[in-house]
Amino acid sequence: MRRIALAVALLLSVRTVAPVAQAQPRPKLVVIVVVDQMRADYLTRYASLYEKGFKRLTTEGAWFQNAAYPYMSTLTCVGHTTIGTGTLPFHHGIIQNAWYDRGSGKSITCTADPDTTEISYGKLGGTADSAHLMMMPSLAETMKKQLKGRSITMALKARSAIGLAGHEADAVIWLDERGAWETSSAFAKEPLGWVANFIKANPLERDADKTWERVLPADRYTGADDAPGEGHPNGWSSTFPHPLGVGGDRLYYARWITSPYADAYVEQMAEAAVDDNKLGQGETTDFLGISFSTLDLIGHSFGPRSHEMQDELARLDGVIGRLLDHLDEKVGAGRYVLALSADHGVADIPDQVQGGGRVVTSVLQGSIDAVLKEAGYGDGPFVAAVAGSDVYLKAGISDHLRQDAKTRKAVVEGLSRLSGVARVLTADEVSTAAARGSKDPQIRATALSYFAGRSGDLIVIPKENWIMGAVVTTHGTLNAYDQQVPVVLFGAGVRPGVRGEAATPADIAPTLAAIAGVTLEAPDGKVLTPALKK
Ligand SMILES: [Zn+2]
Repeated sequence: MRRIALAVALLLSVRTVAPVAQAQPRPKLVVIVVVDQMRADYLTRYASLYEKGFKRLTTEGAWFQNAAYPYMSTLTCVGHTTIGTGTLPFHHGIIQNAWYDRGSGKSITCTADPDTTEISYGKLGGTADSAHLMMMPSLAETMKKQLKGRSITMALKARSAIGLAGHEADAVIWLDERGAWETSSAFAKEPLGWVANFIKANPLERDADKTWERVLPADRYTGADDAPGEGHPNGWSSTFPHPLGVGGDRLYYARWITSPYADAYVEQMAEAAVDDNKLGQGETTDFLGISFSTLDLIGHSFGPRSHEMQDELARLDGVIGRLLDHLDEKVGAGRYVLALSADHGVADIPDQVQGGGRVVTSVLQGSIDAVLKEAGYGDGPFVAAVAGSDVYLKAGISDHLRQDAKTRKAVVEGLSRLSGVARVLTADEVSTAAARGSKDPQIRATALSYFAGRSGDLIVIPKENWIMGAVVTTHGTLNAYDQQVPVVLFGAGVRPGVRGEAATPADIAPTLAAIAGVTLEAPDGKVLTPALKK
């Protein structure tokens, strides 16, 4: 009986993978590299800074230059989950980094899980993170199930490491903001030896007293180091040099994660993951997911045109080059496949753009309160929470407005008149399959990141070059600078070349699945066939 079952299983598995397996040998390792907040135009605008990783990937890989997220909610947790699963937010359910939970009346983060506990490589304790709010399986967990390989992901942010890993993995590692590396009981029973050894040999304090200076001569960078609107994060000025200070305190960790030293560290950790677990060196196919988070922190503080951003990119070029060299050495050139992408882009600093600005959250709330008070709804306040572009009304208000077209129209019109607001959509306008297929690009994009029960009652779309909130700059809209990101495939099974076909980061997982010979459950993305070797 067992022999028959085995024979059937073998037959089935051969059938599933045969078309790909016959054409190309299965890669030993699938790698996804995400650079947090990396805009598509960084690859071309700053091309003169690249000599290593970015140069190699864009000249030896398949570079989809017309790649963009198709949805509104261009944020970290959303983007990583889209890349990790090959599905879109209306499907995978991760609509923001944190949203208002109507049940508890509180904001919850996308990975918060009260049923898990921290497993810290320091001395921390408390509840921790998992993928329990992620409604679709990841490529990594699908590969684990179908190919029995190992899966390891790492990032400075929990939402990035977990978005790439999914619900099950051999190691998912992130940095707690209190300065300790950790995982959770969702992924491990106890601290992993290889991680503990790496951290012991490489304490974060190793970079204490270092100063972040430009790695290239100043005339290699475009624009001014001190441009309008740049921030002063963590006690730094808006110009070089940026000293890290003494190690061990919270200010040091905040500066460290905002410096290129953090990405260099994560790359070393990835090398340790490959070496200590022999990733890509066994019988089957393993998965490695790395998200470099620092560029996002630098972008939020100094903006996409800053010398800090250019310096970070020049250094990441070297960091990713080292990763490729290490994979060539340990796994073998052409024996692994790697995808490079980003979770979202970013807006220019509004102070640097004609007609740019910031939409102030309290003004949105004030407008809604005034209209509803005028309409006899009471004294308010009527807004429960605002998360990015999602406005959540207090319990019952939305149901009332559904029956009260006149007031609903007045609320939408009141918000639409505010500075920087392009359009306001109600949940009912974007919650249907018809909306997801709408020819109206704003309705379609908003619908593709709308998830019933989690998304807001009203969704505010800012005008171009306007950002939501009182920050230096940010992302999270359907504007091109937020949606357009790199999509580059490289290595085993990939046909090199610059491609003009439209692509989205949701296509990465289905394409890697095709190359690795696994079947994803229900991807929204498509296989990027022009990038596949025949
Ligand atoms: Zn991000």
